[in-house]
Amino acid sequence: AKMGARGEFSFYSREMAVDIRERVRLLQSLRHAIERQRLFLVYQPQINLRTGKTCGLEALLRWRGDDGQLIPPDRFIPIAEHSGLIISVGEWVMRMACFQQAELARHGYGGLRMAINVSVTQLRHPRFLSAFRTALEDSGVNPSCIELEITESVAMLEADFLGHMFEQIKALGVQIALDDFGTGFSSLSYLQRLKVNRLKIDRSFINEVSSTTSAKHIPALVVQLGQTLGLAVIAEGVEVQEQADVLVKMGCDEAQGYLFARPMEVPQLLEWLAARS
Ligand code: C2E
Ligand code: CA
Ligand code: CA
Ligand code: CA
Repeated sequence: AKMGARGEFSFYSREMAVDIRERVRLLQSLRHAIERQRLFLVYQPQINLRTGKTCGLEALLRWRGDDGQLIPPDRFIPIAEHSGLIISVGEWVMRMACFQQAELARHGYGGLRMAINVSVTQLRHPRFLSAFRTALEDSGVNPSCIELEITESVAMLEADFLGHMFEQIKALGVQIALDDFGTGFSSLSYLQRLKVNRLKIDRSFINEVSSTTSAKHIPALVVQLGQTLGLAVIAEGVEVQEQADVLVKMGCDEAQGYLFARPMEVPQLLEWLAARS
């Protein structure tokens, strides 16, 4: 047993060394990618389930590696968070998305909400608010068309700080959605106090929503919660019509997922929007 334990330990540490080397390598190439502007945004439509109309877009970050392959955000965002690079990357994302919304407005799509992902690390940075305000001002975007998607894990931040922060964000005239909702443990009082606009049900709850009865409980509960508190509810990761049908029946307001559209680059997005209207 001792041998086994020792063997396992050395295996584990070798794995970790590889992991750290891999992370350092990834971090170096991410720095390069930023300098050489290899990061870009794609936009995924959000659909109003009652009217069937497109009501918003979520901006999602992409990195095109030197070999032309896309590196998924789940791989590089945690590293950007850890190294602090997320601050400058996040500021670029906010500016890009605001300018893009303003551009869409010039194309006649001014009514579309633009949702921007913001991590807890970004939110805690002292420069966050001023950088966001500058992005809003410089782009000339209508702030009411901008929404910050903040993960439910913000609930772990100190309550007074968070309350103050959300107040200042709302004072800019923008909207707030709580992302990945249902995966954390936010209390109801917190939800009411922070005055968010929207709850975004995590994809993990949508996966099986049409197959088993028990899988319906959490989305149904979130929809009811939204109705009780006067918050809109959006479901992410809707891939098949059955899932959309179940969500409509529940009274869910909006949905986003491959059933409607994949995240797209701007030219493709413009074609998609034109074809739908
Ligand atoms: P998220 O905010 O929960 O974004 C939803 C993810 O689900 C996106 O993955 C989207 O492409 C994917 N998705 C949408 N519809 C479907 C569907 O029907 N089926 C499936 N299987 N997936 C679907 P993506 O673009 O790979 O982003 C992953 C995560 O990376 C995001 O999760 C978000 O947490 C983070 N992220 C992406 N862009 C940014 C950004 O600009 N800033 C920050 N801080 N985080 C970002
Ligand atoms: Ca999101
Ligand atoms: Ca999400
Ligand atoms: Ca998610």
